[in-house]
Formats: sequence, C-alpha cells, structure tokens
Amino acid sequence: MTRPGVEPGRSSSAITTAAWDAAVAAIRAVPLDAEVQLICHVNPDGDALGSMLGFALGLRRLGFTGLRATFPGDFDVPEPYRALPGAELLVPEPQAYGKPQLILIFDVAGESRLGALAGLLDAGIPAIVLDHHASNTGLGDVTLVDPAAVATSVVADELLTRLGVELDAEIAECLYVALATDTGSFKFVRSPSVHELAARLIATGISPGDIARRIFDTRPFGAMKLAGEVLGRAILDPAAAGGRGMVWTYATTADLERHHQRPYVLDSLIDPVRGVAEADVAVVVKELTAGEWSVSLRSKGGVDVSAVAVALGGGGHRLAAGFTAYGTPDDVIAQIVPLLEANLS
Ligand code: AMP
Ligand code: MN
Ligand code: MN
Repeated sequence: MTRPGVEPGRSSSAITTAAWDAAVAAIRAVPLDAEVQLICHVNPDGDALGSMLGFALGLRRLGFTGLRATFPGDFDVPEPYRALPGAELLVPEPQAYGKPQLILIFDVAGESRLGALAGLLDAGIPAIVLDHHASNTGLGDVTLVDPAAVATSVVADELLTRLGVELDAEIAECLYVALATDTGSFKFVRSPSVHELAARLIATGISPGDIARRIFDTRPFGAMKLAGEVLGRAILDPAAAGGRGMVWTYATTADLERHHQRPYVLDSLIDPVRGVAEADVAVVVKELTAGEWSVSLRSKGGVDVSAVAVALGGGGHRLAAGFTAYGTPDDVIAQIVPLLEANLS
C-alpha cells in the first residue's frame, strides 16, 4: 500500500517522514572524519551483512573516512559473504570503536542480538536503527523499522536515497545479496516494489546469476554430507500445532567438527525442512556451544512463529523466527510444542 507522499517502489508506510529526516540529520551532523560504527546482528546473515556493508559503502561515497563495521561474537564471516564489496570495513568486535560519534544498527530486532555491543547504546551516542522485524523492541534513538519491508536492505536503500547517494555496482551487490537472502531468492516477495528495487540494483551492472551461485548454490563437500545426516534424522510430528504438523531436526557441534564445517553452513538447512508437505511448522535446532542452541522456526501460515519465538526470548517475523535455547534438542522441542498450539493463526 502506498501512502500519500511516499513514492511507489520505496519503503515505506511504517516509517514517518520525521524519522527519516531525523536519521538524515543525525548522519549529516557528524563530521566526515568522525568515528562511525556500523553493527549488525550476531551470526550475521546476508541481510545483516549486505545492508550494513552496502550502507557503509554509501557513507564512504559521501566522504566518511572513519567507518568500521562489526557484529557481536566470533568473527566468523560466512564464507559466501567474505567477498562482499566493503568487507574490508569489517572488524572483529574487540576492534569496534569504543566511543564512536555515531552508531548505525542493521537487521537487529532487540538488544539480545547485539551481545556486548548493546553496551554502546547506553553511552549517549546517537544510534540509528534500520530494521524490518515486527518484533523490534524499539532500540536506538532513531528507529527506522518497517515490518512491511522484506529485508533491512529496503530500508537502507531508502535512507541512502534520502542522503543523496546514488547506487553503484558495489553498493548494489551488497543490497541485492541482502534482498535475495531475506526473500528466499525472491520467493517471499510481497509487493512489486521488491522487484522494482531489484531492477534498480541490477541496472548498476551486477550479475544476479553469479551472485546466486556464489551465495546460495555453492557449499563445501563436507557441508553437503553434514546436511545429509541432519536431514536424515528429521522427525515428523503430524499431531503438533493443532494437527497442522511439525517437522524438526537438530545439528550438534560434534556434527560440525566431524565434517570440519563452520556453524553458518547449518543456516540453510531450514529450507529443505520447511518444504515437508505434511508439516506447517519446521524447526532446526543448531548447537552454538555445549547445550546452547540457535533455533530456526518457519511456518507456512498456520502458526505465528514470531509469537512463539518472542515467548521464548527471541524474535522474527510471523512466518520466520528464531530464538536461543538451552538443554537438549528434546527439551527445546518440548518448549516449542505447547506454544504452537497457543499461537495458531
Ligand atoms: P533464522 O532462522 O536464523 O534465519 O532467523 C529467522 C528470523 O528470526 C530472522 O528474521 C531473525 O532475525 C530472527 N531471529 C532468529 N534468531 C533470533 C533471536 N535469537 N532473537 C531474535 N530474533 C531472531
Ligand atoms: Mn537477519
Ligand atoms: Mn532481515
């Protein structure tokens, strides 16, 4: 839906003109040599890294020279994203600025996704948040959150436009990776504006086919073997979610070690699991460290999995959400099952 004063093809009805203006003013208020810290969420995905780096490159075009980008936790940039334009701006969390003049936060629904970097929010430094999670808790000073946006990069693109930054191929590649990631390669598109944005990005000369092969269709042999094991142990519970059905599986750190793989290779496994016809809900329980699990939830529409995740301390979208859990995979599933019943939609 388009509101008066909002151009079609752009974000967004949810973000007020005042909020956009405040973000532009906050960025223009800092000198070009100021220390500017960009942050995205822990275990970053394509939208987190792509929107952050694309925006960072836009700031560089404006003349900003003190840019650093980071995310909390292990500095383990998923292999497919290491060659993103702007990746040279990434620093491990300990090398983030201690007292930057401006903070920009991408794809972060709540402070728990910022780890220790959340401490920067209490230091009186202006913080602009770009996000698209309905569950966003409203962190930061200027909150640009559009739950109707399919990716944070939609919001990043709009703010770049408002700052007068023209898209170039490097910025576009980052924003395209972000858009393609969060739309499941354009399968979860909700409006023509997504393809209009994609068209503007592709018009800079980027190659969607090469990007898709690199980001989605390339994996180490060990990751494929690992996927075979993890998918092979999936369990179907047709009675769960009021009879709509749930399918779930898990992967441990031992699985990763056995196949010499990094944790991010598990993130794509939710896709084949959610394809199971007999289940509305799909769950993948991924061990981060001993007994600590990152849980991915998906629904085909029968359950509001964002509400389930929020009830368990996480967040996300109605059909795609996640949270952190403790115990055994069976413990985690036992926590989820009653909440599915309570959040049928
Ligand atoms: P994932 O299953 O990791 O692809 O995440 C699906 C959605 O849930 C994304 O929008 C994430 O931002 C969100 N999400 C995943 N884990 C968490 C968490 N621990 N807390 C808040 N949101 C999360
Ligand atoms: Mn994300
Ligand atoms: Mn996102």
